[in-house]
Amino acid sequence: MSRDCLVLRVAVPAPLPRWFDYLAPRACPHPPQPGMRVKVPFGRGEAVGLIIELAGDSALPRERLKHAVSLLDEEPLLDKPLLDLLRWASAYYHHPIGEVIAAALPGLLRAGRPANTGARSASARPFPPLEEEMGMRAAPAPALNAAQAAAMTGVAQADGFQVFLLQGVTGSGKTEVYLRLIEQVAARGAQALVLAPEIGLTPQLLARFEQRFAASIALLHSGLTERERARNWLAARAGLAPIVLGTRSAVFAPLKNPGLIIIDEEHDASFKQQDGFRYHARDVAIVRAQRAGIPVLLGSATPSLESLYNVRQGRYRLLSLPERAGGAAHPQLQLLDVRGQSLQGGLSAPLLAAAGEHLARGEQVLLFLNRRGYAPLLMCHACGWSAQCERCDARMVLYLDRTRALHCQHCGAQRARPEQCAACHGGELRVLGYGTERVEQTLRQRFPDTEVLRIDRDSTRRKGALGELLTRAQSGRAQILIGTQMLAKGHHLPNVTLAGILNADQGLFGADFRAAERMAQLIVQVAGRAGRADKPGRVLIQTHHPAHPLLTALIRDGYAAFAEAALMEREHAHLPPCSHLALLRAEAVNRNAPLEFLHAAQTAAGPLAGNAIQLLGPVSAPMERRAGRYRAQLLLQAVRRADLQRLLDAWMPLLETIKTARKVRWSLDVDPVEML
Ligand code: ADP
Ligand code: ZN
Ligand code: ZN
Repeated sequence: MSRDCLVLRVAVPAPLPRWFDYLAPRACPHPPQPGMRVKVPFGRGEAVGLIIELAGDSALPRERLKHAVSLLDEEPLLDKPLLDLLRWASAYYHHPIGEVIAAALPGLLRAGRPANTGARSASARPFPPLEEEMGMRAAPAPALNAAQAAAMTGVAQADGFQVFLLQGVTGSGKTEVYLRLIEQVAARGAQALVLAPEIGLTPQLLARFEQRFAASIALLHSGLTERERARNWLAARAGLAPIVLGTRSAVFAPLKNPGLIIIDEEHDASFKQQDGFRYHARDVAIVRAQRAGIPVLLGSATPSLESLYNVRQGRYRLLSLPERAGGAAHPQLQLLDVRGQSLQGGLSAPLLAAAGEHLARGEQVLLFLNRRGYAPLLMCHACGWSAQCERCDARMVLYLDRTRALHCQHCGAQRARPEQCAACHGGELRVLGYGTERVEQTLRQRFPDTEVLRIDRDSTRRKGALGELLTRAQSGRAQILIGTQMLAKGHHLPNVTLAGILNADQGLFGADFRAAERMAQLIVQVAGRAGRADKPGRVLIQTHHPAHPLLTALIRDGYAAFAEAALMEREHAHLPPCSHLALLRAEAVNRNAPLEFLHAAQTAAGPLAGNAIQLLGPVSAPMERRAGRYRAQLLLQAVRRADLQRLLDAWMPLLETIKTARKVRWSLDVDPVEML
């Protein structure tokens, strides 16, 4: 085949579910290959695309094909296994291949910068060989206990692809198992890919890795500069970095010689991208490991029901670490029945008393509440009016903020606190309910000599603020820490001996079917923050439903018992992991357009669905209007994943042709994690 009749199938970063054909560039110093970037004419300008295939001809007549402008790489930037993985992800999540590839590339390379970007600036050999570094290691690794050794041997002896679930409470030594396995993988010249939820939120994991391996780690997360990111990505690709540690999108990092994939906190919802290309990094990692023929290790104190179900089905192998490694006792969990009790800023008398005792002993107290702001409701006592957001079907939340006290937590709108009711002009506006600011205020009044630190999205908005707050918290002084789930994640706070959950009921009656699972995970994670060897921890959980079966299973018998009960509920309700879902969402400024589009989509799906797939809806979203747009959704449910995929394959092209499709923004979410 002569070069000038060669057709390049190019993925271009555009929201179109197809590739584009070009002729090879007129001047082409070396033969084009799949995985190379190429500059192409696109629309009225030019775009940087990636060659995904070479072909002898095109569906378009030859005279309509344009020549690519130039080839940007001398060798493929993405190798065949990675390119195939991205093509699989594009097909599975039904997302345009060009955008999928763009998500996998660092910004500089996406923009067409040469693939030696960063390599030149990094003269200091940036990634010294591992043996050299291990020699410099300060602290020797502890000898593994029997459970850790068994877990490690299990994974180390895996012959090719196998999924392991490492279940162990906080402090049971999971990270130590990761470190040992990584050491082994690196010693034989292979690479370990480690994914963690939000590295910025869990500096402790990174610190542990750096203590052990220092410069051998290629970091990939959003806190890096574009240059650092490109440099680390290229080091992973060249095989110079034995360890690649990153957040969600690092699942697509290039690896010259993959040996092992580890997903820490595998249950964490942040592994799922919630907009655009809605992939789940844990699920993609498992497919990647399968294709590469390597083991994958999922670690968590509170595994997702998905992973536990896979263990039950015999697909994953369970490895358990039942004891805390340093010998610390398990924290003691206790429900506080707050029915009929008077609460002070959300705190019951027994919780306040317990806090007082622990503070008096010089210990720290951690309080958890998943609601930001001062109070969720400002209501007129005369007529019941409350402040609503003008652009969302939601109430404005009251903040201590003097000038713009009312905030919408959905669209960010802010306005001043009214002096009087907007409906009856009455002057008695009451503050109802409580958020973290109000709890903070109550605690300051009650314990005037104690420092109170509030850690939530509002108090950590400024860059560096979270780090400063955590450093203060880690000082170990008697302190009260009040926060949202941000505070529950892997921070090491050894002087916390009492943890309080202010409102467990939020999770029991959430609109999302995963609400109870999340609450249970959170309770166990919060409990994991409390206590250490010499000071056992205590966890008090306020609830109006002390007899709720899921809550009592969790408190009395632990997370495994909770998960067993929750799985049974899912089975009866035909919900994941006992079925598979896809959610078609639509939104528009016009109120009727989303439902019209979804009805047409449902009609189109009818003949394809047969008995294998249930179509539920369409219905308006639980919060129908958000930021001025009306939202609706159609849910697809199937017992077998393959049936669902077959329908989506045939259905997606039809959606493009629906007349009302142009009047709405629509998107498909395969295996949705947020249902709202
Ligand atoms: P996890 O990741 O499950 O929270 P870590 O691996 O961080 O647990 O271990 C918790 C603490 O126990 C750490 O300080 C770690 O250094 C220590 N540790 C882990 N394994 C051992 C062991 N086998 N012997 C002694 N200490 C250990
Ligand atoms: Zn009123
Ligand atoms: Zn709003």
